[in-house]
Amino acid sequence: MGRIVLLPEEVASQVAAGEVIERPASVVKELVENSIDAGAGRIEVAIVRGGAAVIRVVDDGIGMDRDDALLSLERHATSKIRSGHDLARIHTLGFRGEALPSIASVSRFRLSTRLHDGLEGTEILVNGGKMDAVRASGEAPGTQIEVRSLFYNLPARRKFLRSENTEASHVQHQLSLQAIGHPNIGFVSIRDQTVVFQAPPAKTLADRIRDLRGSELFEKLLEIIPEAVNGITISGLIGKAGVSRSTRAEQVLFVNGRPVENITIQHGLREGYHTALMKGQYPVTFLFVEMDPEAVDVNVHPAKREVRFREPDSVRNGVAETIRKTLETDRQRWTHSFQKPVETPKTPLREPVTDSTPALIPAAEQFALRRDWAEFHATPVNSAPLPVAVPPAAESCQPTSAAPAPNYRPEAPNEFKILGVLGKLYILMENEEGLVLVDQHAAHERILFEKLRRQMELEGVPTQRLLIPLTVGVTPKDYDWIATNAQALEKMGFALEPFGNSTLKIDGIPQFFRTDDPSVTIRQLVDELRSMTTTTSRLRMGEDVIARTVCRYAIKANDELRRPEVEKLLRDLMDCELPYCCPHGRPTMIQIGYGELEKKFGRKV
Ligand code: ADP
Ligand code: MG
Repeated sequence: MGRIVLLPEEVASQVAAGEVIERPASVVKELVENSIDAGAGRIEVAIVRGGAAVIRVVDDGIGMDRDDALLSLERHATSKIRSGHDLARIHTLGFRGEALPSIASVSRFRLSTRLHDGLEGTEILVNGGKMDAVRASGEAPGTQIEVRSLFYNLPARRKFLRSENTEASHVQHQLSLQAIGHPNIGFVSIRDQTVVFQAPPAKTLADRIRDLRGSELFEKLLEIIPEAVNGITISGLIGKAGVSRSTRAEQVLFVNGRPVENITIQHGLREGYHTALMKGQYPVTFLFVEMDPEAVDVNVHPAKREVRFREPDSVRNGVAETIRKTLETDRQRWTHSFQKPVETPKTPLREPVTDSTPALIPAAEQFALRRDWAEFHATPVNSAPLPVAVPPAAESCQPTSAAPAPNYRPEAPNEFKILGVLGKLYILMENEEGLVLVDQHAAHERILFEKLRRQMELEGVPTQRLLIPLTVGVTPKDYDWIATNAQALEKMGFALEPFGNSTLKIDGIPQFFRTDDPSVTIRQLVDELRSMTTTTSRLRMGEDVIARTVCRYAIKANDELRRPEVEKLLRDLMDCELPYCCPHGRPTMIQIGYGELEKKFGRKV
């Protein structure tokens, strides 16, 4: 008896603050979201000493009258939802009615607000959750909130704050997220009296990203052509194939205007990028997913950082498909630029070469003949046998052509103007936009990869029997997964048999499998395959193995190629599904535009 008490309001707010307010950046997030919900057209955020001393957010939104201003500081007071029913279809960024009282309970807090048609405004001062003053004020319409000495009454919390620079960078990150999420709103960010960034209201997301991130990053992005599928619309900008980062720092995701971290979307991204992304790297994305608010639960995380989808599979597939299609548009641009005749530069440095000159590279002798083109395709570079039967020479990389394409004629008119080969590795070409460098090894890897993958899909991979079968212990979960996917694994060339007690017997491995320890590789493979969707995993089976294998068989940096070989290589590359990066996500070609050359030569600033 008497052990349980109701916590005083102030303490309850501090407890709630513990969940929502972690650091200055969380205060900024909550206040800026409130300003956005209030219909602001301009939001100014100023911090002093990383936000630990002062955080001030000023907006020109609708403002509040005196009663609302007082109510806004009560816990669970909100203008954004009315009933539990509304919780299932949230249209605003806020809905919990907890941010203002929480912040006010752990700081010296000042709120000043005025309606646009209000004769006067209201100013409220709160110290550590205790209301100190309520009075009339004469500020401009809109709302100003000032948060001083954050966590002054919670010393343990205050100790957790990091350096001023670290806290300030979290604030900047939060602000740039909100600015990307709402391009039409003007943002000003001030740190210790200095303007850090100023983003005027922008017409489009592209303009906002260029403003905030600069044109260097912007040029590496592709715009998604938005399309509504299954009630989900995906839009935004994403990095081109091969553009990646070692962290998720540039992976910005929004669901209904709310920046989120979401594993379902992340899986969709990885699937969509697939081989266009280097292993262990993350894509650069500014991705917006819009859907009926009823199809997404935002009431999952106190700081509203996470969301849960009612139909995660359709979100993941939608994202993957959109990414794939968007990357494809870039392929069309490349291919197109190669197939259009190159215009002679305005001020030729030498005699213009006509298209009837078949060899635009120096005399063929310069490319010492190491082997015939046919040989080159029929036998691997090193002496090991090629993994799977290689189609006859000159087979093109067309997705549907199982039969050889005998119409390859070295004398066919050039679609690409080849200039030569640099350092026995980089093929130099000219296109409309300037110079193109192709890495011959990476290009050949891509070609072989797509060829082998197609063959595997069509016919499966031959198995190489082990002289002594191996037994491998796996986790019960992996064991079940392997048992249900045995057929698909078989197609990949594995001969596996359940041996009881979470043990597998391995009788055979794919013919081209080169591994010192098949059991480790199988475990890794299972891990990877399990993270993929059921619809794609079967097709993706073993791609990783293929990618590693083709690397060994592809022509190398120092292999000298003859002109027809170079031509064939480029033609095959252009016929690939994803020509601009190798199966590990590294670029196969790089464009250096005339603009860049002109800059380097000082012809243009
Ligand atoms: P929530 O945003 O979840 O409703 P908050 O505690 O953040 O809860 O805010 C409480 C209420 O105060 C909001 O519902 C809104 O009506 C009002 N409010 C907060 N900030 C502003 C602002 N900048 N401009 C106008 N009204 C605001
Ligand atoms: Mg709020």
